[in-house]
Amino acid sequence: MDIRLAERVFYFEESQTLEMAKKARELSAQGVRVINLSLGEPDFATPQYISDAAKNAIDAGFTKYAPVAGFLDLRQAISDKFKRDNNLNYAANQIVVSTGAKHSLMNVILALINPGDEVIIPNPYWVSYSEMVKLASGIPVFIPSNVSANYKASASAIEAAITPKTKMFLFSSPCNPSGSVFSREELNEIANVFAKYPNIYIVSDEIYEHINFVSKHESIGQFEAIANRVITVNGVAKAFAMTGWRIGYMGAPEFIAKACEKIQGQFTSGANSIAQRAALEALTGPMTSTKTMTAEYLSRRNLVLKRLEEFKEVKTNIPEGAFYVFPDFSYYIGKTLKGKEIRSTRDLCYYLLQEAHVSMVSGEAFGNPECIRISYSLNNEDLNYAFDNIKAALNP
Ligand code: PMP
Ligand code: GLU
Repeated sequence: MDIRLAERVFYFEESQTLEMAKKARELSAQGVRVINLSLGEPDFATPQYISDAAKNAIDAGFTKYAPVAGFLDLRQAISDKFKRDNNLNYAANQIVVSTGAKHSLMNVILALINPGDEVIIPNPYWVSYSEMVKLASGIPVFIPSNVSANYKASASAIEAAITPKTKMFLFSSPCNPSGSVFSREELNEIANVFAKYPNIYIVSDEIYEHINFVSKHESIGQFEAIANRVITVNGVAKAFAMTGWRIGYMGAPEFIAKACEKIQGQFTSGANSIAQRAALEALTGPMTSTKTMTAEYLSRRNLVLKRLEEFKEVKTNIPEGAFYVFPDFSYYIGKTLKGKEIRSTRDLCYYLLQEAHVSMVSGEAFGNPECIRISYSLNNEDLNYAFDNIKAALNP
């Protein structure tokens, strides 16, 4: 890296999800059929009525700067959604709409984290959490877990990680990359821990809320003892197949929402006005498309689990939501495949991209270097083709 750059560029990593997706695109630009299991992105088109709302918004003149925190009717619709679906009480003035949930997370981390503050993050975690905390000069503190615990951190393990420097607890449920879902009881236990520590803020990333195969979604902010310290982050990307529209949002205590609005006002201003009108349609419209897509993800999950059974040396968890599976491929570390030494799951991912034309992301990026994250938001034919190729490449 070029030393003329500012130091902050050195102390966080490039997003490996985006890096692998880029490598897959480069290979496919050479005419190779590449199956991209690296990027967590629905393969479905945005439902037509949502796209129509955006077209209508252009014609209706929604082409000017939007208010920094988002259009008031959208913030009201988000406030209603939080109440209706999640039993959360955030008034419209406690909502900030941003350029994707990623942006919402960065805003809240910048708003709360001082240099040296610790942020507790259950491992495995979504790739950007740790790097965002480092960007804010905070210290990520990871809680290990393993496949036999379905990659879920216990309330006691979380409590053991708390120190006087802890400022935030940051997690996702359903979880990216494991697909694990915290039950209401588990969240209640975690809430009971934080009830004892009034200076810690809880950031709950619920972007996979609707992609849940086992239960009704539960939010940690519903528990009264901590409700006034919970920041709930969500967005339209996954539930409505709207990744490219870039609309995310948060509900937060008012002083945090105001701070995020201030930060956003100097960075990016209001999120895209047309996409905000489309998001309003998504959040107030029927959930039929979301339900159809979720049923499809479940059937794909089952296909992927079935295909993984063919790999006797690979241990896997059973994801309960989202569209990822996080199997342990450590058996292959230290092996030589087609003359290539595999020293890590990262090497294995590069090898499988070259040999099997399948792109996946090493678990390193999610805090567990023994695993590989497989995003299965693709059709059955592509998934089967990918697994046929992986099998051939691992048994050369
Ligand atoms: N949180 C998690 C857990 C994610 O997987 C993602 C990736 N989409 C995001 C946040 C960011 O979502 P968005 O595309 O809305 O920025
Ligand atoms: N969240 C998706 C993923 O985990 C998109 C990539 C990203 O934003 O990093 O793959």
